[in-house]
Amino acid sequence: MKITLVRGDITRQDTDVVVNAANSSLLGGGGVDGAIHRRGGPEILAECRQLRASRFGRGLPTGQAVATTAGELPARWVIHTVGPVHSVGEDRSGLLASCYRESLRVADELGARSVAFPAISTGVYRWPMEDAARIALGTVRSVDTRIEDVRFVLFDVVAYQTFEQVLRGLGPTD
Ligand code: ADP
Repeated sequence: MKITLVRGDITRQDTDVVVNAANSSLLGGGGVDGAIHRRGGPEILAECRQLRASRFGRGLPTGQAVATTAGELPARWVIHTVGPVHSVGEDRSGLLASCYRESLRVADELGARSVAFPAISTGVYRWPMEDAARIALGTVRSVDTRIEDVRFVLFDVVAYQTFEQVLRGLGPTD
C-alpha cells in the first residue's frame, strides 16, 4: 500500500473513495461533512436519510463506517465514519483507530483501490493533531487490505507538516 500526504480539499480528490468525518446523525454538519454535502449535492444526503430510516435508526455508532454514493464528487463513493470527540479523562484512541480500519474494510468490500481520508476528529471533535496523526498513520499501515493507494488530505499547513513528521518517524514499511 502506498501512503501519500496532500494538502488540500478532500472534495476535490479523484480517489475511488473519499471518507467523510461525519457525525452519528448522518444528516450533515460543518467541516469536512458540510463541504462534502455542499459539493456532492443532494443525492448523498438522500442516501444518508435512507440509512437512518433502515439500518441506523439510532444513528451511526462512533468508530463505524458506511458507504453512500459520492453524488457529484469526482470519487465513486463516500464512506461516512464517526470519529470520537477527544476526551482528556478517557482513552478513546481505539475508536479513532476503528474509524480508519472500518473505512478501509468497507472500501475493500466495495472493490475500491484508492481512498482519501481527512484528519478525522481533529476539527470540531478537538483531537490533538500529532496524536491523531499517529493513530491514523499507524492504523492504516497495520491493516491487511487490497487498497493500494491511501491519501491523507490535510486542510492546512500545520496538519500537513504534523502528518509528514509522524510519517517520517514511523520509518519504512518493509
Ligand atoms: P471532526 O468533527 O471529526 O473533528 P471536522 O470536519 O470538524 O471533523 O474536522 C476534521 C479535519 O478536517 C480538521 O483538521 C479540518 O481542518 C479538516 N477539514 C475541514 N474541511 C476540510 C476539507 N474540505 N478537506 C479536507 N479537510 C478538511
